[in-house]
Amino acid sequence: MESKVSMEKEELIHKKILESGEDGISQQELAKKLGLSTRELATVIKKLIDKKMIAKKAIKENGKSVIKLFAIRTVEESNIYVNLESIEEIPCFSCKLLFKCDNGAHVNPSSCTKLSSWILSMDL
Ligand code: SF4
Repeated sequence: MESKVSMEKEELIHKKILESGEDGISQQELAKKLGLSTRELATVIKKLIDKKMIAKKAIKENGKSVIKLFAIRTVEESNIYVNLESIEEIPCFSCKLLFKCDNGAHVNPSSCTKLSSWILSMDL
């Protein structure tokens, strides 16, 4: 059973993330705003993610991949989470070999250096 203080902290953190809207908020920014330690905040963040009240998403800001927290407002959002910005960058979408590429074929995802490099560059 969670304590009242813990529940109040959860509500406050959730409210701040909700207020950040479409822009989201980084964990560091949130800790600074609320005057909480990053460890204390991380515990609450994990609970909120487990409860499907918030989600962590990797977004691009000034060419860099940044992890931000976003509030989940609907059941649909909690069930289906897709970061479209990351998907657009999958090298296969702009690859000239896409129609020749297949598992077991000479050109295949398992041995593709472009795909491997892209996966390794993901900062998740
Ligand atoms: S796995 Fe590599 S070769 Fe295949 S479509 Fe994607 S980028 Fe092109």
